[in-house]
Amino acid sequence: MRSESVTGGFGSVRTGCAGPEYGRDGARPSAALMVMVLVLGSVVFGQEVKFAPHPRLMLSGADLVEVKGRIERHDWAKQAFDRLKRDADGWLGKEIDLPDRGGQWSHWYACPKHGARLVTESPTRHVCPVDGEVFSGYPYDDVVISHRHNDFAAAARDLGLVYRITGDAKYAAKAKEILLGYGEKYLTYPLHSNHGEKDKVGGGRALSQSLSEATWLIKLVQAADLVWETLTPQEIEKLKTKLFYPAAVEVIQKHQMPIHNIVRFSHFTRRRRA
Ligand SMILES: [Zn+2]
Repeated sequence: MRSESVTGGFGSVRTGCAGPEYGRDGARPSAALMVMVLVLGSVVFGQEVKFAPHPRLMLSGADLVEVKGRIERHDWAKQAFDRLKRDADGWLGKEIDLPDRGGQWSHWYACPKHGARLVTESPTRHVCPVDGEVFSGYPYDDVVISHRHNDFAAAARDLGLVYRITGDAKYAAKAKEILLGYGEKYLTYPLHSNHGEKDKVGGGRALSQSLSEATWLIKLVQAADLVWETLTPQEIEKLKTKLFYPAAVEVIQKHQMPIHNIVRFSHFTRRRRA
């Protein structure tokens, strides 16, 4: 597999899982793959597959021991962890008010005259840095909604990571609040595209294209893996049926690309058996 460092993180901690790489366009097959690795039992396509205990995606139990050791031994790791924990602490007191609809493509967030990236002054006030013209409404408000969806997903993952490093259940509880909130809301977000088309294959529910949906989903899957043992069977079932399977299978996998998800998953399954 390909590994990459957590941003500002602890060295070689994986941000993927044991399987295909997921840089850029590979996010689509990898998001679906990670859902399978997260929630499947021990039999896949009639073949026995041994999965490691949770956590098994972003990092393993052995990785956690290494991370904790680095935080104790190295100032750079301690500083990275302090940043991560400070961000997680900031989320503990926040209301998890998930958006009531899916977001729009970040490329729309530019002044039509100058092409300059807009500055967000509020969820409904977006300002051109060249001449100060103010934009509001669709699609600008909806791009900010995309940012919020990505922020919530990243927060769930970071809260899960801090929970694993500190063992403090309050971080897991907040990550769960985000995950279960999406379990409630995800299917209420209509499938839509970058151009606002409804029920368009290649679009997304929380975001507006399957690639963005995949990168968003990967963070949530990693979060669920990190707090897995704090979830009840009912909560796991809710996440499987109302968030992870619909996103991975009905939104992301339906968008067939030259790299075929099932082929890659099959390759992964065989490699794990070898
Ligand atoms: Zn402008």
